Amino acid sequence: MRLIGHFIGGREVKGTSGRTADVFEPMTGMVQAKVDLATKAELRAAVENAKAAQPEWGATNPQRRVRVLMKFLELVARDNDALAELLAREHGKTLPDAKGDILRGVEVVEFALGIPQLMKGEYTEGAGPGIDIYSMRQPLGVVAGITPFNFPAMIPMWKFAPAIACGNAFILKPSERDPGVPMRLAELMLEAGLPPGILNVVNGDKEAVDAILDDPDIRAVGFVGSSPIAQYIYERAAATGKRAQCFGGAKNHAIIMPDADMDQTVDALVGAGYGAAGERCMAVSVAVPVGKTTADRLMEKLIPRVENLKIGPSIDPTADFGPLVTKEALNRVRNYVEIGIKEGAKLAVDGRGFKMQGYENGFYMGGCLFDNVTKDMRIYKEEIFGPVLSVVRAHDYDEALRLPSEHDYGNGVAIFTRDGDAARDFAARVNVGMVGINVPIPVPVAYYTFGGWKRSGFGDLNQYGPDSVRFYTKTKTVTSRWPSGVKEGAEFSIPTMK
Ligand code: NAD
Repeated sequence: MRLIGHFIGGREVKGTSGRTADVFEPMTGMVQAKVDLATKAELRAAVENAKAAQPEWGATNPQRRVRVLMKFLELVARDNDALAELLAREHGKTLPDAKGDILRGVEVVEFALGIPQLMKGEYTEGAGPGIDIYSMRQPLGVVAGITPFNFPAMIPMWKFAPAIACGNAFILKPSERDPGVPMRLAELMLEAGLPPGILNVVNGDKEAVDAILDDPDIRAVGFVGSSPIAQYIYERAAATGKRAQCFGGAKNHAIIMPDADMDQTVDALVGAGYGAAGERCMAVSVAVPVGKTTADRLMEKLIPRVENLKIGPSIDPTADFGPLVTKEALNRVRNYVEIGIKEGAKLAVDGRGFKMQGYENGFYMGGCLFDNVTKDMRIYKEEIFGPVLSVVRAHDYDEALRLPSEHDYGNGVAIFTRDGDAARDFAARVNVGMVGINVPIPVPVAYYTFGGWKRSGFGDLNQYGPDSVRFYTKTKTVTSRWPSGVKEGAEFSIPTMK
C-alpha cells in the first residue's frame, strides 16, 4: 500500500510518529493509501529547513523568484491529466471538476508572476528639509498554510504561490484526507527550480497544526476549513503574535426574484448546489424564491432536475457529481436530512436511497431537496456540506435580503433577476463578502481577492490578489537626511513638518 510521508528539505521523508491516517478512494470506498501524521519534532525539522533556506531566497531578485513559478506552470500543464486523476481518486469529485480545481489554483500562480510589481515600495523626495522617505516590502520569513480536503490543488496554490513569490519559505499542512496532490505540487516546485526547504509539506492532524501554531519561528498562518477550527486557529496563532487569516464555512443563499429567467436560474442552482456533491465553500445551499408564485414556478422546474441528477464514480466524465469524501461525511449529511425531516421541513426529493451499481461500497448519495425550510431550523443555520439544497420561501425582497445578511455565515450570495435596480441595491446592502448577480458561484478572479465575512472569515485581509502581498510581507519605512540638510543643534521636541 502507498505510504505518504512528508516533504521536507526538498525530499520525501518517512514519518517517525508511528501514527497514520487512511486515505480512501471514495468512489470504491477502499483504503488506497496511508499518510503519516507528524509529530512536533517533525514539524520543527521542516521549520529548521525553511529557516535555513529563506534568507537566500528572500535576497534573490523578485524576477528570478517568479521564473520558478513560470516553470512550475509548465510542469503542472505537462502533468495535468495525472494530477486530475490522483485528485479525483482521493477526493471523489469528477475528472472535469478536478481539472477545474487545478486550474483555479493555476490562475493564482499566474497572478503571482506579477508580484514583483506589487512589491514595489514608495518614495517621497523632500518630505522635509533634506529629508527623503521610502518604504519597502520585505518577506516575513517562514509562514504556514493549513488547508481543507475539498480543494486539494487550488487552496494550497492560493497559499504558497504568493507567499513564495514574496520571498518567504512555506510550510503546508494539507488535509490528511487527500494529501497526494499537495505532495506532487511540492515535487513539481522543486523540479521547477525552487531551492530545497522553501516549500515543505508536513502531513498530519491536530498535533501538527498545534505545533505550527505554537512555533515561534512561523510568522504567519493562512487557514481554510470549517469555522470552529478557523476560530481556534485564529485565537491560538494570535497568542504567539502571528499574523493569521482564517477562512471558515458557509451557508450561501441564492435569491430568486419574480422576474428572474427561471430556466437559467434552475441551471445555476443545480450546478452550484450539487456540483462536487455540495462539498464547496461557495456551493449554494439555500434558495430563496421571493413570493409564492415564484416559489411554485421554481419548485415545478427544480424537482425533476434534482431527481434526474447523474451521480457517478469520479472517473465517469459524464457524471454531474461523484461520492462524498468519506463514510463519516456521508453519514453526517444523511443525519442532517433526518434532522430536517424531524424539524418539519418538506423533503421534496430524497436521494438517500441512491446506490451506485458496481460501486456498492462507495460513499454516494443522491441529491436531496427540502422545501418550506425556516430560519429556526438546524438545517438552515448549520453548514451541511453535501448534496442538499434548502428552499426558504420569502414573502418579499426585504425579507430575502435579511436572510443572508442576518445569517452567522457570510461567504457568498447570489441574486437572480433582470432588474438592475434591485441587483444594485442588493449588492450594496447585503452583509456578505462575495456577491453574484445572476452568477451562482461568485469566486472572484485571481487579481481580485477572496474572503467571506462574519463566521466565514477571521482576521484581516483576503486571500490571493493584492491582499496576499500585504499579508505575506511587512512594510519598512526609511526616513533619511543627508548632512547638507542637517540643522545645527539638538532638538528636544517631537519632529513635526513645520
Ligand atoms: P476542517 O476544518 O475539518 O479541516 C481543515 C484543516 O484543519 C485540515 O488541514 C485539518 O487537518 C485541520 N484540522 C481539523 N481539525 C482540527 C483540529 N481540531 N485542530 C487543529 N486542526 C484541525 O475542514 P474540512 O472538512 O477539511 O473542509 C471543509 C470545510 O472547509 C467546510 O466548512 C468548508 O466550508 C470550508 N472551506 C472554506 C473555504 C473558504 O475559503 N472559506 C474554502 C474551502 C473550504
